[in-house]
Amino acid sequence: MATMTGPTGELSYEVSMIDVTTSVPQPDKSWRFTDVNGHEHYWQDGYPTLSHVPDGERYWDDDDGEWYQPTRLACSVCGVGVTPRTTVDTFRRMAPGLSYYTFNGEPITKERFEEIQEEWRAARG
Ligand SMILES: [Zn+2]
Repeated sequence: MATMTGPTGELSYEVSMIDVTTSVPQPDKSWRFTDVNGHEHYWQDGYPTLSHVPDGERYWDDDDGEWYQPTRLACSVCGVGVTPRTTVDTFRRMAPGLSYYTFNGEPITKERFEEIQEEWRAARG
């Protein structure tokens, strides 16, 4: 929380942090792999050296109302199956969430907060 005092009172604001830790596996960006045929594979906004190839029977997905074709990743050159390494968060990740502003202890909007700051600045000359 940050607090500032001016000619008409006390302003404060606080930004609540939200927990954005995910347990969904994320691509491991440091992943490097050489397949059995000597082809290099790595992450770079995707897997530039890998292709999605059909893996198993396609089936009707009732939720989406369309056919779904399962795929797996394979080397674009030789077609050997490659499973990139993934990671999950091992520590909490926080991101700024809602902001909360008060004037003399009363909740106010961000606009009002900025207005008061402006008034104070003007008062100071
Ligand atoms: Zn290959």
